[in-house]
Amino acid sequence: MFARIVTSFFITCVAAAGFVAATEHLAVAQTPATAAPAPLPPPKPEMTEQEREKNLTAKQLFGAVQLPSIGKAVAIGYYPRGCLAGGVELPINGPNWQVMRLSRNRNWGHPTLIQFLEKFAPLAAKATGWKGILVGDLAQPRGGPSPSDHSSHQTGLDVDIWFMPMPERELTREERNTISAINLVAEDWKHLNPETWTPEHVAFIKTAAQQPGVERVLVNAVIKKELCRVVKKQPHDWMAKVRPWYGHHDHIHVRLRCPAGSPNCRAQEPVKGDDGCTGKELDSWLSDKRLRPQITKPAPPKKPPKPMMLADLPPACKTVLESPARNTSFANDKR
Ligand SMILES: [Zn+2]
Repeated sequence: MFARIVTSFFITCVAAAGFVAATEHLAVAQTPATAAPAPLPPPKPEMTEQEREKNLTAKQLFGAVQLPSIGKAVAIGYYPRGCLAGGVELPINGPNWQVMRLSRNRNWGHPTLIQFLEKFAPLAAKATGWKGILVGDLAQPRGGPSPSDHSSHQTGLDVDIWFMPMPERELTREERNTISAINLVAEDWKHLNPETWTPEHVAFIKTAAQQPGVERVLVNAVIKKELCRVVKKQPHDWMAKVRPWYGHHDHIHVRLRCPAGSPNCRAQEPVKGDDGCTGKELDSWLSDKRLRPQITKPAPPKKPPKPMMLADLPPACKTVLESPARNTSFANDKR
């Protein structure tokens, strides 16, 4: 059953290969061509710390760090421009969760995010009847921008959780790096895929949005529209937090609000009280103008945006990057 879902999703994804956001969770396995080994280049002189920070982008610097900084956990800056001190690792297996994409080493977060997941996993399992949840990216060990995929997830307060139930058995390392998440949206990006969408997905999203400390739950606009239809006649205060966003057809993105003890964590503007089901906003997400870049390949930007450097992040992030590493018992065996 599990394998069948995976296969059918893979086909869907191939059909939608033009949608750039659909590639977020697709791991492309490439077999290197066999060739005679090239002679090794002469060793480069080591860069000093200052030279590294000046010449390398923030994502190269933060992406190269394998372990968290020592000290108290603090979320610093804004979700798409910040970092994380004293990050904590989510164990790769829990009673109701398994972490995917282990080779990325992005299962780190602020302790409030780890506690959220430990609490949410059994609640989601109960609400949906699933065995548990599949957890995608949290943050890098010290947060910051990452070499691929996300512009947010930098402060250790964001997590992606797949729309696919956790299987009964423990997935292998290989499977966790290669299996694709199921897509709940049809190929036209205007309707749900009846083969993958289930009523349990409503319970899953609702449970996430109802947890204390949750600031936003991002889903594809098609999914938001269906939620609006389903919950119309029931109380649904939680719906205000469920917001449409690009992609998010194969996972939810849960964002927690700034925790206590992180004075330099910048809060996102709170959601307005309305459920977001009426008015122009939701419809505009499904308009041809907004959908086109998802269906056809968007034109490449005229000038690539200037890469984010360490100096573009809050000054405390330099200290986080340069701090000694805390050795943890979990930080191994992911490759
Ligand atoms: Zn995300």
